[in-house]
Amino acid sequence: MLIKNKKYHLIKEQELIAIYNIQEQKVEKLIKVDPLLIECYLEVNSTKAIAEQQEKYHHVLTNLQKAWPDLIVDMDGEKLEQLIELEEAAREFARLNHHYFSLKEEMIFINVKETLSFYTVNNFSKSVDFKFSLLKDIHQYTAFSNKKKGEQKEINLIDIASFEKEELQYFETMMLRDDSIRIYYYNTVQDVVLGEGLVGSDYGCLFCNKDELPDTSEITAEVSSLIASLLQFEIIKYNRNLLAFLNEDITLTKGKKFLINKSTFEAQDIHIKRSSVCTCCAGGTVRKVV
Ligand SMILES: [Zn+2]
Repeated sequence: MLIKNKKYHLIKEQELIAIYNIQEQKVEKLIKVDPLLIECYLEVNSTKAIAEQQEKYHHVLTNLQKAWPDLIVDMDGEKLEQLIELEEAAREFARLNHHYFSLKEEMIFINVKETLSFYTVNNFSKSVDFKFSLLKDIHQYTAFSNKKKGEQKEINLIDIASFEKEELQYFETMMLRDDSIRIYYYNTVQDVVLGEGLVGSDYGCLFCNKDELPDTSEITAEVSSLIASLLQFEIIKYNRNLLAFLNEDITLTKGKKFLINKSTFEAQDIHIKRSSVCTCCAGGTVRKVV
């Protein structure tokens, strides 16, 4: 079935249609279309709509393919169903949360799609292997040694209990140097803990004002699925554009820890106390990785 390539989004620009490249964050081309069909062109942004009414969109899709061949792709089966599910989740997130951002709902949708389709998610753990319904390709690592640098469109999840303090220091230093996104997690006798979530040195580092790392307990299957269910929506909020336009902090972990007490299910958050004399991030002045 012919559908719109997930890399693009069609935006109305006065009486024209802009072909916006989500991955590269730029308009590829402006096309002139029949003014009466503008709404029909915009509906092509919904893969679900195309899948349900192929006949209706055939003409529009053919025109779009002529204007920008890469815009139209052939997709069927499970891949198509996954894409529809992903788009519906992105649309729902944008609809429910747009008032927390100084961005239009449509731009939130585009950025959520960018995270779900084009951000790399890495999980560093010797025991936890997350299953997310929307994020399919999680890269699993049991050591930091293969990682030499951080990327911009990447979210790193780190199981604190799997690593020694020195390994975490090495990793933090690299993340600080490369302005990378990482979210730590662990389990204790009393609480399940998500965070801190960090972006470069924006909110400090894992070691700010901490002499020792927490005493951790094993992450059971039950705890792992609780963490995964919270992390999936947390990851969406760590899109760099969304973070930049967030008016009210709706994250669980940005510069803080989110603790859930396992007996009472009460939640609380604890903000990082940044330290200007921190030996790891020095309050933002970052040391080189040796
Ligand atoms: Zn620090």
